[in-house]
Amino acid sequence: MSKITPQPGIMDIALYQGGASHIAGVPNAVKLSSNENPFGPSEAAREAYRKAGFDLHRYPSTDHAALRAAIAEMHILDADRIICGAGSDEIITFLCQAYAGPGDEVIHTEHGFAMYRICALAAGATPVEVPERERITDVDAILAACTARTRLVFIANPNNPTGTMVGGAELERLAAGLPEHVLLVLDGAYAEYVEGYDGGARLVDARENVVMTRTFSKLYGLGGLRIGWGYGPSHVMDVLARVRGPFNLSQSALVTAEAAVRDRGWADKCREDNTRMRAWLAEALAEHGVPSDTSCANFILARFANQAEAEACDDFLKAEGLIVRRVGGYNLPNCLRITVGDEPSCRRVAHAVGQFMKVAR
Ligand SMILES: *Cc1c(COP(=O)(O)O)cnc(C)c1O
Repeated sequence: MSKITPQPGIMDIALYQGGASHIAGVPNAVKLSSNENPFGPSEAAREAYRKAGFDLHRYPSTDHAALRAAIAEMHILDADRIICGAGSDEIITFLCQAYAGPGDEVIHTEHGFAMYRICALAAGATPVEVPERERITDVDAILAACTARTRLVFIANPNNPTGTMVGGAELERLAAGLPEHVLLVLDGAYAEYVEGYDGGARLVDARENVVMTRTFSKLYGLGGLRIGWGYGPSHVMDVLARVRGPFNLSQSALVTAEAAVRDRGWADKCREDNTRMRAWLAEALAEHGVPSDTSCANFILARFANQAEAEACDDFLKAEGLIVRRVGGYNLPNCLRITVGDEPSCRRVAHAVGQFMKVAR
């Protein structure tokens, strides 16, 4: 046994399982396991990325001013209270690092995103899982779980992997009901998929205890570039700015994200396409006897009779070249999370699930 040991909590972290992207022996598999935009980034974003290739010898901007200004303009926010990170994962990491340590508690929901627990443990804090109500965030259960040790509450809205969300009045009630020493984090990774939803921005503006995180990885189709951002009250942004590395984002990422956020047409097209295909896929699966909650994001949580049936369906889909996500690690062993792909992919999935269900029951 080595005497060189990590900080407490680190070895309790289960390694993050990313969505698979290949199937052995299947050359043209369709990846529907990581909630990626099937159409990728906008042409304007691709062009900005190509151009950035000529300046790779230059250090990037440290204050991210141009990108923050673009985000502020497009989302109608205060640019001074935006922070950019290597994916919103990095913003989640900053929040845990800055606000939670040994002896502190970090609340996440029963089927909440895995990074909350990972980042809490990495900071030495104790993750606390709070039950949901039928796969929906339960505000009362969260309020009841708060203690003198609670520092952070993480909620993804819409949530991954359930796809469900809670309304503005519930979020307001939660923010207002939390003890004074608790910071509420609204993870808006899928906010862009909800027409007219601001991800919690107005609640951030109205209060001192709410932070919002957002990403370019989902609707904007830039998961490979690692870029996200956060928005919060000045006192929190001042803290996060101190733990952020000065060169945490490459210039390629900064200019590409700027072009992406300014291309409203592409974002609208992708949202509309997702809304249409999501409804189609949910209905097709339901017709085959596989129900799902109404999803507000770019994936569907398909519910099967039990774990064995879900896993058998996953195996069947894999053999058909379709990669979806098992979510046993999210306390949902009888479910599969299926990203809404382009129309041909959705048709393939629906057909394959139908074939499977014919023999399964
Ligand atoms: C995908 C996802 C993120 C963010 O990912 P980044 O690529 O790090 O921006 C954050 N929260 C949830 C709930 C997600 O599903």
